[in-house]
Amino acid sequence: MSGFDFPPLSRVAFSTLQFNIGRLCNQACLHCHVESSPSLSGLQDNSSGELIDKVIALLGANPSITTLDLTGGAPELNSHFRRLVEASTSLKRKVLVRHNLTVQGEEGQSDLPQFFADNNVELFCSLPCYLEENVNQQRGGGVFKLSIDGLRALNSIGYAQPNSDLQLNLVYNPLADHLPPAQQALENDYRRVLAEEYAVQFSALVTITNQPIHRFKHFLQRENKLDSYMTLLRDNFNPQTLESLMCRSAISLRWDGKLFDCDFNLVKDLPMLNQQGGEVVIDDLLAGALDSTEIAVDDHCFACTAGAGSSCGGALVQEV
Ligand code: SF4
Ligand code: SF4
Repeated sequence: MSGFDFPPLSRVAFSTLQFNIGRLCNQACLHCHVESSPSLSGLQDNSSGELIDKVIALLGANPSITTLDLTGGAPELNSHFRRLVEASTSLKRKVLVRHNLTVQGEEGQSDLPQFFADNNVELFCSLPCYLEENVNQQRGGGVFKLSIDGLRALNSIGYAQPNSDLQLNLVYNPLADHLPPAQQALENDYRRVLAEEYAVQFSALVTITNQPIHRFKHFLQRENKLDSYMTLLRDNFNPQTLESLMCRSAISLRWDGKLFDCDFNLVKDLPMLNQQGGEVVIDDLLAGALDSTEIAVDDHCFACTAGAGSSCGGALVQEV
């Protein structure tokens, strides 16, 4: 089953704008598909205040965009992050943040839990295992303990607490070249261990398949496992996932103003194209001129359709 191309896809409509604010991050995880880090390139690839203004204007003019999904890097490290969240909340948009927990320990960020709560931000926090050693292996020494501290800080102001609307989701991705286990069973294990060992609560666990791009691809190449991983993804192609792929109802904006079909295409520099074959930028959206429905697909897309499927919101279908 290995030798076939990914099927063509088209966008239905979009209600979510995922915005990759920039590559700057306080961590440099082994699996990071954005190749984020605290380095100079992270500082350079970061959104300007002018782009933030355009995003706020876009939300204001388009009620059909109901959700703003902020990612990076660590989006909180952009100096315009907080005003973007506050403006979006004022416009009654749902705001999601991909929050790495350890950023709470960076200078000037200790009040982030309260800021998130004040703006009813839904959080997605990476914790690729409930075992300290495994998390530190993938995300860096000391990250597990700092992540637990961050989760406790969020719990203490109401996140994932009974009778609270504040949603705190954890994100699992495999440590190596295999597919995620069944999402619900893994969530049960996380819930039990984190409660018993660390007195930590969370709302839901989402499982994400590692994309064979950038750092994870380099890891596979070093281990001589890239071909076998691609075969694994292809052999587990599940056509039932196609309807729910996130690229069908969301688009991604990059820090330089260009638009993409998803965050993976964004980091691969595989642009969204208009009917004339030109690249689409945020100014086209502001002018109400998005005439692109065809989604740019490539071999990495097989990571989204393997097994139960994978998206920024986790598995796409019931476990198979
Ligand atoms: S915290 Fe997230 S964005 Fe930062 S390096 Fe790790 S995976 Fe990449
Ligand atoms: S990587 Fe996944 S979300 Fe992105 S275009 Fe391919 S199938 Fe869609």
